[in-house]
Amino acid sequence: MNVNIELIRVPLAVVTCLLLLFPAIAGAGPGLPVFDTHLHYSEDVQKLIPPERALELLDAAGIAHAVVSATPGPAVEVLYRLAPGRVVPFLRPYPTRAHRNTWFRDPELPDLLRAQLARIPYRGIGEFHVAGTNAGSATVKAIIRLAQQHRLVLHAHTDLEGLQLILAEADDTDVIWAHAGFDEPIATLQRLLELHPRLWLELSYREGITEADRLTPAWRQLFTDYPRRFLVGTDTWSPQRWAEISDLVTEARLWLAQLPTDIAQQIAYGNAGRLFGTDE
Ligand SMILES: [Zn+2]
Repeated sequence: MNVNIELIRVPLAVVTCLLLLFPAIAGAGPGLPVFDTHLHYSEDVQKLIPPERALELLDAAGIAHAVVSATPGPAVEVLYRLAPGRVVPFLRPYPTRAHRNTWFRDPELPDLLRAQLARIPYRGIGEFHVAGTNAGSATVKAIIRLAQQHRLVLHAHTDLEGLQLILAEADDTDVIWAHAGFDEPIATLQRLLELHPRLWLELSYREGITEADRLTPAWRQLFTDYPRRFLVGTDTWSPQRWAEISDLVTEARLWLAQLPTDIAQQIAYGNAGRLFGTDE
């Protein structure tokens, strides 16, 4: 999310301290196992939530595996090294948070990422933010080629125009669309899923899935038609999102429970397990 974390740092620190002191408020406990495909464990969060505590929060939420990225990118190694069988590390192309708005014009970035990729067995590049025609820049194209060379998954927070530019370049590459386009119409999602067999839709912050806690008929139909193409995520971009992680997973389980069990299991865990080979 593009929210200025500086504005909310103090109250969030209080929330996080409460969470650390009173772990019982961390959530309702495990239910349907979840593969969370959108976690961030950035340096500012690490100062408040040590890696051991972060893993306890995943336990409490029933998150079995997680795609994790961080700002700066290599900061994800802290959590990966503690739980290499559980953390699926993605490399973020941001040396700093401010870089988010300029990285796609930085000609030196592909070489920097190439060097960082050698440090641990990264499985993807992202989540990165880019919009509109910026997604067609030479740097973005070079990063897509890098992903292809290393067989990495791309995790893109982008708009429809940006996604289409990325998909046009990313042949034979798995692309996760973060937030499934936020509010893009379902007909657009259907068209994209039909055209691009290696596109995955990740559902954090996605609008319209439920109304008054009930799965909407349109989303039920979409999940039923494409049960193998969706991924769940919590998007822990701030300390507060980490504090809420069990509640966020519980929210997802509420609508998952309204689907046939086999479809719910695919979306909660099976699809990501297949994508990253953790279900073998
Ligand atoms: Zn995002």
